[in-house]
Amino acid sequence: MKMFSIREENLKVFLRELSLKHVLIAPFKRDGYFEFDVLRNPDDFNVNYTNTRLSPKRFFMPQRQLVFKHYPRKGFTEELKENSSVVLFGIRPCDASALSVLDNVLLNPPHKDALYENRRKNAIVVSLSCTKPMTECFCNVFETGPIRGTGEDLTFTHTSKGFVVEARTQKGIAVIGEFGELFREADGEMLNEYNKLIREVLDEMGSRLKVDKTRLIGIEKEAGEEFFQLNAQRCIECSLCSFACPLCYCFETEDYWEKDSYVRFRGWDTCISPLFTKMASGLDPRVTKADRLCHRFCHKLSRIPLTFNAYGCVGCGRCVSLCPAGIDIREVLRKWG
Ligand code: SF4
Ligand code: SF4
Repeated sequence: MKMFSIREENLKVFLRELSLKHVLIAPFKRDGYFEFDVLRNPDDFNVNYTNTRLSPKRFFMPQRQLVFKHYPRKGFTEELKENSSVVLFGIRPCDASALSVLDNVLLNPPHKDALYENRRKNAIVVSLSCTKPMTECFCNVFETGPIRGTGEDLTFTHTSKGFVVEARTQKGIAVIGEFGELFREADGEMLNEYNKLIREVLDEMGSRLKVDKTRLIGIEKEAGEEFFQLNAQRCIECSLCSFACPLCYCFETEDYWEKDSYVRFRGWDTCISPLFTKMASGLDPRVTKADRLCHRFCHKLSRIPLTFNAYGCVGCGRCVSLCPAGIDIREVLRKWG
């Protein structure tokens, strides 16, 4: 793919132009934390932002979402249709890679998810390379960052001479074409710095954690109960790990009667919750907390790879930094990877 560049001072012009044509979502600081939301003022975007607590998945899978309303007296069902065009700017490559895994799971038959597709199909994803990964990050293990991910249309990398911009898809090429006056071809000096940056960041991350991913497929057979039982003693079942994760996609639905219609909502759920697999009969295939923790890790590291040819973790480090009990997926990787 062709490499472009944009000058530092033109980034805000680009963001302003984007926000006139699309709903522009980007990270900015609010109440002391960086979070993704609609960016109304490009001056609020900080190129050195640190990782957000919640991932951008909520723009495609909201925490709670109306599915349909059925009006029995009118014999009419109203389904949710959303067609706004969203640009997700500045997401980290790991979060962009998580979107490509979600696409794999949710955009293909036999379980195609129309609600996800509605929001995802018009979205443009622009990542900003991570040149200073945080201590809990390990995207290098799954090759989902830190400079390039797998789900972005455009990748921006900050260098001393501006941003190197790589168009990764036809949508990305169309954006470059649309704002052509702001972009030019990246010169050799910039590309040298970009390549050096890739080597340095990957070397630094590689020195933290090295994993043989192929071994993880066998984790279900190899992992003894003891490890999960010990961790389960500390887990308080708060579900934070799943809710913060950019690619945990389990949900529950709730139906109720509202004035003149049946309404169905759906919302995030998690396999770590004791009610998640409990059936109406009272039967529960995952009764203990240790069962549920084991499932969480085995699903991400073995079952999703076997089914979708991608891992259920992109190494964003959110569950590592947020778990109040200090349960750390990197321990699983060190032990069985
Ligand atoms: S964040 Fe930690 S304590 Fe909370 S459910 Fe997940 S593993 Fe358990
Ligand atoms: S499992 Fe943890 S580190 Fe992996 S993608 Fe989810 S939140 Fe990030």
